[in-house]
Amino acid sequence: MSDTLFPGKYADAAQTDLAHADPAPVDPALIDPTHSAHTRAYGAIHSNGPIGAMTIERRALLPDDVAIDVLYCGVCHSDIHMIRGEWGEQPFPMVPGHEFVGRVTAVGHAVTRFVPGDFAGVGCMVDSCGACDNCNAGLEQYCTAGATLTYASPDPRGAGPTLGGYSERIVVRERFVVKVPKDADLARTAPLLCSGVTTFSPMQHWRLGSGQRFAVIGLGGLGHMALKLAVHRGAEATVFTTSADKANDAYAMGAHDVVVWQPAASLPIPHAQDMANRFDFLLSTIPSPFDLAPFLPLIRRDGTFVNVGAPGTIGGVTGAGLWNQRRSLVASCIGGMPETQELVDYCCTNAIHPEIELIRPNQIDAAYLRVENKHVRYRFVIDLASARA
Ligand code: NAP
Ligand code: ZN
Repeated sequence: MSDTLFPGKYADAAQTDLAHADPAPVDPALIDPTHSAHTRAYGAIHSNGPIGAMTIERRALLPDDVAIDVLYCGVCHSDIHMIRGEWGEQPFPMVPGHEFVGRVTAVGHAVTRFVPGDFAGVGCMVDSCGACDNCNAGLEQYCTAGATLTYASPDPRGAGPTLGGYSERIVVRERFVVKVPKDADLARTAPLLCSGVTTFSPMQHWRLGSGQRFAVIGLGGLGHMALKLAVHRGAEATVFTTSADKANDAYAMGAHDVVVWQPAASLPIPHAQDMANRFDFLLSTIPSPFDLAPFLPLIRRDGTFVNVGAPGTIGGVTGAGLWNQRRSLVASCIGGMPETQELVDYCCTNAIHPEIELIRPNQIDAAYLRVENKHVRYRFVIDLASARA
């Protein structure tokens, strides 16, 4: 794939069941008041509302805080679920955005890994208890007290819920900021912070290896990153897509096979018989409840079906379907901070980048519709640098 797939600079155009801890109060003496700032942001003032410009307040720096001018922020389908109220009631106004990169503008006096001028990235979390077993293992997304998500989450360090990366500036605790190499393609690095690490993490945990037969279901933002990562690991990759016109792109990204299917009981998966017991590793990015039954027979002995998509019901799961061939059905939530840094370094070193459509902030509503209609190729990224100019 190359940039030529998307000529012109601009496109035409979770959650998760994580519990939230009650925020612990911050000692006011630790706050450096010189760095609080009004910031332009893009969000909705009510559920399902349009995304518009607004002014928000970023907190003053604490000693271990990093202030970042956001340059590029990806649009994740989770942003749409959250804005639309598809994952339950949310706090508004909401400023989405949980995969972004920017330039460090100021650091608290206890910050050791960043200096102003560095490039930095932030993903889906901005805080966690830092003390539980999972935080100690670098798996902050599974913090037993509840990780603080980058937006719409109670903020232990600020007033009101967190406000995300569709904004020109943000302040984030250093532990939740990753380093971005100086020569990185910044716009194409931003989606790594969610779509990249969400697909990388299960491949690491369940050890997707060279020569294994891998399949991804859904070729969207997460799915196309999964495909690229699996191909880079040497797996033989198959794409299950409901969009026949994505087949050529899938092959260009390294797919070995493309199967066009429709999620309707009356339409069996084409060539399912030929694919029985075939895959070591299937990864679903389907964003809504789905039926596992058509896919179960395709998993080989000791194979794994990983759901990183829908948080809702997965139908068609039977005990026999799983114990036949000792199959596993598992799920995975984003990635921890060490793994996120590892993924950014790995992708930048090996030139594994998302395919993006760059948009301006006033195109976000239109972009949401194109994601919902499966038309995005393959991740929208908001250019906040140009909006600031
Ligand atoms: P996306 O860009 O919209 O991609 C999803 C793809 O799934 C679509 O492009 C489409 O691909 C396919 N699809 C859509 N509706 C479908 C349906 N009803 N039945 C079957 N296939 C369907 O979304 P994304 O940003 O990749 O996110 C995917 C899901 O993962 C979202 O629900 C998001 O909230 C969730 N997510 C989870 C985590 C986590 O930590 N687990 C992190 C981030 C996002 P084809 O056109 O190829 O069929
Ligand atoms: Zn996301």
